[in-house]
Amino acid sequence: MILIDGKHIAQTIRAELRQEVQSLLAKGQRAPHLTVVIVGHNPASETYVASKLKACQEIGIATTRLAFEDDITTDELLQHIHRLNQDKTVDGFMVQLPLPEHIDEQQIVSAIDYRKDVDGLHPENVGRTLMGLPSIVPATPRGIRELLRRYDIPTAGKHIVVVGRSNIVGKPMAMLLLQKGDNGDATVTVCHSRTHNLKEICLTADIIVVATGQPGLLKADMVRKGVVIIDVGCSRVEDSSAPRGYRVCGDVDFEQVAPLCSYITPVPGGVGPMTIISLLQNTLQAYYSHRQ
Ligand code: NDP
Repeated sequence: MILIDGKHIAQTIRAELRQEVQSLLAKGQRAPHLTVVIVGHNPASETYVASKLKACQEIGIATTRLAFEDDITTDELLQHIHRLNQDKTVDGFMVQLPLPEHIDEQQIVSAIDYRKDVDGLHPENVGRTLMGLPSIVPATPRGIRELLRRYDIPTAGKHIVVVGRSNIVGKPMAMLLLQKGDNGDATVTVCHSRTHNLKEICLTADIIVVATGQPGLLKADMVRKGVVIIDVGCSRVEDSSAPRGYRVCGDVDFEQVAPLCSYITPVPGGVGPMTIISLLQNTLQAYYSHRQ
């Protein structure tokens, strides 16, 4: 069994990206610039935003944090989005989700210029990904594709079961794996909470990508020997023996399942570190397309 070291791969890519940004600066070009919009004071959102900005700064991407109180209206927020769309010094931006309930999230995401949509959630990007056209892909599926590529895990002709159908992980993951060409060409099955025979389906998988937020959902009797498992799950489970009073758990019963796998991602240290790296890659992608 090989443990997929997402932390190490993320560090390698971070060094590559830092090099890339430094060479842009050495050529006299301006630094790529990411703006992150945050509404309200959700502690989890504040932590995510801080780590995204820090990761950018570490490789030389310029950043702006645009914060609003949670009484901002949809119209006011839309005006800021339009301004960011027009601002030629901003290559990419994202609005940290979730937004307060009175704001129409879909309307906000759809108002972003899709070329600056570093989260890859704009319907234009989703549609382009579906059609196999150049697009910005949501960070987590992009990171998983990169892990598979860097570990030389072939996907062509393989049966890949994606458990979870969210717009940020499951659906875009399935779309990418289905595409013709490199890191695609898979036979993809997507499962969700209404799937009747999850166990039987998983038993036919060569690769399982599980993204449900249900700790320990994938058990040893649901996988066959030699399977590759990508565990996206990231849930806090109470544990009085842990220093913080909780552990972060994936969707896989790791102890029992790992010995059966050819490759598996740990939680933490697997998919998580790749998600933030992919945001940096998406920012650079937006920078290059913005300058064309
Ligand atoms: P969502 O809650 O949006 O989606 C969960 C999906 O899992 C849904 O499609 C749901 O089905 C399905 N599901 C739930 N229970 C079951 C079950 N018992 N059997 C089969 N399918 C089930 O979550 P996200 O996609 O946003 O995230 C999933 C997990 O990944 C979470 O733990 C999240 O924290 C983590 N995550 C980790 C990231 C990282 O970087 N490591 C990044 C993003 C997410 P249905 O549609 O029918 O409700």
